[in-house]
Amino acid sequence: MGVVGMEVAGAVCEAASTKNVLPTLSYGAEIWAPQLILQGRTACERVQLEYLRGLLGVRDSTPALTVLAETGQLPLPAYWTLQVARFVSNLQAMGGERVARLAMLDSVALAADTDTGLPLARQPWAAQVSRVLAAAGAPCDLTADEGVAIPELAEALLERHVASYTHASVKVQRYIEDVWGGSISAEAYTPASFLCDVPERRHRVRLAQWRTGSHWMAEETGRWQRLDRTQRPCPHCQAPLEDVRHAVCDCPLYAGLREEYAELFHSPGHAWPSLAAFLG
Ligand SMILES: [Zn+2]
Repeated sequence: MGVVGMEVAGAVCEAASTKNVLPTLSYGAEIWAPQLILQGRTACERVQLEYLRGLLGVRDSTPALTVLAETGQLPLPAYWTLQVARFVSNLQAMGGERVARLAMLDSVALAADTDTGLPLARQPWAAQVSRVLAAAGAPCDLTADEGVAIPELAEALLERHVASYTHASVKVQRYIEDVWGGSISAEAYTPASFLCDVPERRHRVRLAQWRTGSHWMAEETGRWQRLDRTQRPCPHCQAPLEDVRHAVCDCPLYAGLREEYAELFHSPGHAWPSLAAFLG
């Protein structure tokens, strides 16, 4: 890889970790976001996903869970929850008469006097924070000196996110099957290596489109026309389904390419790589 290629790859790696975007979307979130964390998809979360789709070069309709897994990101509310927990821990650790800590204790006192039946947005900040931390499985007494164990909370949020793939849509399940080899785990949940390893954007985008099902083969176009999966044949060879597996492994249209790039299809000891390994 040349120097320019390395620079580009570096920029992509950095972008993939959303180093620029996450701080912008989360600025001051420990103050204003607690009420939003439990609210479901917010405008901020839509911006996060839009950015990640743009980074990958995939369609707007690419499922959120697929986009997050490709880039190794958590949903925005998980980052906000961690930010809230860190902020609270810092305030707790301050002790003494520091103004920020006193303000938190005031908010706790106010929360104790507030009707808990009110909508969350109308409750004091301390009540919102308590609700968020409890929902994240890390209930916390804000008046104590020691609060949330951050590494454990981070791990729990990651585990919870990964578990959400079990109930994902058929399209996301197929992505996990084809790209992750069948299951997704917290240990392996990192940005896809091709984001750093493939220096040219147009190649990266093409790969991302194939991996996420954001391509123009009949498997996808037939979905838009609401055709049954059994009625999305390959326009080149009439095989019953034109999908990535068919294009990579079977379609005679690409036989010449398979011969030309034989090393991609025949790794030592393995006659034929799995689709997950090929797309990896
Ligand atoms: Zn074909």
